[in-house]
Amino acid sequence: MYPKIDIDYEKCTTPFDCNKCLQICPQAVFDLNTLKYVRLKETDKKEPGAYKVTPIYRDRCSGCNDCVDVCPLQAITLSYPEVKKNES
Ligand code: SF4
Ligand code: SF4
Repeated sequence: MYPKIDIDYEKCTTPFDCNKCLQICPQAVFDLNTLKYVRLKETDKKEPGAYKVTPIYRDRCSGCNDCVDVCPLQAITLSYPEVKKNES
């Protein structure tokens, strides 16, 4: 079973500028999206909230913990939810 990956978006506000988890992940789990578009203007990667990193390919995660270790803001948490067994 693959881990649950939570990102604290109160801490991670400028992921394009940081980019560390995206670079280090050997499984390419993370995706980066632009949330702010202004026609004919380059989005500022230092503007909080302009981009969002998401662990979209979580099913590829090997649980290596590299993203947790590299994040300078301690914004990533890995957890392993217990598998619930059927009571029948
Ligand atoms: S390493 Fe941490 S702060 Fe940097 S983009 Fe990833 S989650 Fe955000
Ligand atoms: S634990 Fe490893 S494989 Fe999983 S998302 Fe983080 S860096 Fe990628």
